[in-house]
Amino acid sequence: MSNELKVKFWGVRGSYPTPGAGTVKYGGNTACVEIRAGERTIILDAGTGIIPLGRELARTTPALAGGARERAGELLLLFSHLHHDHTQGFPFFVPAYMPNAKLHIFGPDGTHESMKNVLERNQSSETFPIGLRDMSSTKDIQAVRESQVIVWDETGVRVAESAIGLGDEAVIIRIHKSYAHPGGVYVYRITWHGKSVVYATDTEGYVGTDRKLVHFAKDADVLIHDAQYLEEHYWGQLEGFPSTQGFGHSTVKMACEVAAASEAGQLILFHHDPSYSDDMVAGMERTAKSLFADSVAAYEGLEIVINRASTSPAVLLSARERDVKYAENG
Ligand SMILES: [Zn+2]
Ligand SMILES: [Zn+2]
Repeated sequence: MSNELKVKFWGVRGSYPTPGAGTVKYGGNTACVEIRAGERTIILDAGTGIIPLGRELARTTPALAGGARERAGELLLLFSHLHHDHTQGFPFFVPAYMPNAKLHIFGPDGTHESMKNVLERNQSSETFPIGLRDMSSTKDIQAVRESQVIVWDETGVRVAESAIGLGDEAVIIRIHKSYAHPGGVYVYRITWHGKSVVYATDTEGYVGTDRKLVHFAKDADVLIHDAQYLEEHYWGQLEGFPSTQGFGHSTVKMACEVAAASEAGQLILFHHDPSYSDDMVAGMERTAKSLFADSVAAYEGLEIVINRASTSPAVLLSARERDVKYAENG
């Protein structure tokens, strides 16, 4: 069994998918990140990036396709919030149609409409040909509170009131509810064998940094942080781009401030603006590196391995692959 905590990016774009020649390097799919803790797969958000991930899981996970006697293929899906760019890939997620798949789906509580209702409405007969209940997998959909923890250990997946007494082998997911995005958003911290990944998408920085987020993300090995805007765009100083202050997204500088204050091992810029070209995102990565050295702009296919035995920064696996892909496509 693998003892590595792995992070793989399948969709890194914010707001809406952006195919085309200008987004080949970083990719045009909306938010979806895969975390692998040994044999367990945790998926963060279901933007269109979950579509290729679903195909890959269906192909490579025998338990998903197994007969009735085989153990169910379990997957854990976490929604940061229910905006379109975080849910629109779910109706096309192949494992959701596989009878032997068991999906544990968690997301925000205390919203105007329950999470289950929103997902059902996304697939109502008026909006989609196949209803949520007509997808053959078993789905356990639960809203969770900030005070709770989601646990995945040898006994399965469950919601607990605390992480006290849990062994090192358990995957522990903590929740921070942020109000720095319209309607609120959940930030997740996934911990396994003492290594942590924090997923903070769709969040706007505060003057003097978001102290609660910094506390929550303290010493994370990998911090995935919203960095949608160029500074000039955010402030309305970029021609043709009205100010986006208050939209619930961060600038590169805001993301770097959180990374530095929380002493994260590595910062991954995430949720790129759909109107930005590859060159603009590359420029943002350069800016980030000047403010926080271990910064990378997320791209589709980026894979990070956090070795549980090592204390060195996480290893980027596929940077070369990205450059090859970019060179091939112009
Ligand atoms: Zn979003
Ligand atoms: Zn959003």
